[in-house]
Amino acid sequence: MPDPQIEKLLIVQDRDVALQKIEQELARIPQERAALEAQITAEQANIEAARLELQQKEVERHELDTEVKAKENAINRFRNQQLEVKKNDEYRALTHQIEQSEADISQLEEREIELMLAIDESRETFEAEKAAIEVRMVEQKKQIERLAEREINLKASIDQARSALETARQAADEQFLGHYDRVRKIARRAPYVARIEAHKCTGCHLRVCNEVSSAALVAGQPSFCDQCARMVYA
Ligand SMILES: [Zn+2]
Repeated sequence: MPDPQIEKLLIVQDRDVALQKIEQELARIPQERAALEAQITAEQANIEAARLELQQKEVERHELDTEVKAKENAINRFRNQQLEVKKNDEYRALTHQIEQSEADISQLEEREIELMLAIDESRETFEAEKAAIEVRMVEQKKQIERLAEREINLKASIDQARSALETARQAADEQFLGHYDRVRKIARRAPYVARIEAHKCTGCHLRVCNEVSSAALVAGQPSFCDQCARMVYA
């Protein structure tokens, strides 16, 4: 049967730890939200980059088209000129230019076909990726909503947790509470009040000396682990 003062402190500790948990969870929310928002921004940037790449290819294709049309116009012009020239060598020169332009056109058209295949491929990839990204973004947005809900719930429970802790503190012995607060500052984590089990402090898991072990059995006076300085009880 532990010291009644210790029992009261254990209630303080329980509520203290519960409050800490809420505070830590609340403190993490802005980071979690920022991480989700960063993911969404990155996904959007990816979609945009893929869209621009596709657009760039389409611009290129359009340029090829324009070039082909210009060559076709040139051929028509050469043919009209051929109707007017008198000399054979002039006629042949124009024929040569026409042939050259036709060769250019077939090269341009080959590039255009390659480009069209690349565009089709890019578009398929883009659409598939976009769909996948959109699914992920919906999930990320849901997570942000859940985060907001959790924040509301945590804020609602924090006041309750604070007043529960305050009630427990008021019921505790002032001297014991003073030690508790002191230990709480120096111990890196809970428990601040630890049971001794098989001569070991359950706070630091090290063996305590015999004096501490026997002192912990005495009710009404606080004892401390000689290893970690936590308050101990048997
Ligand atoms: Zn200890």
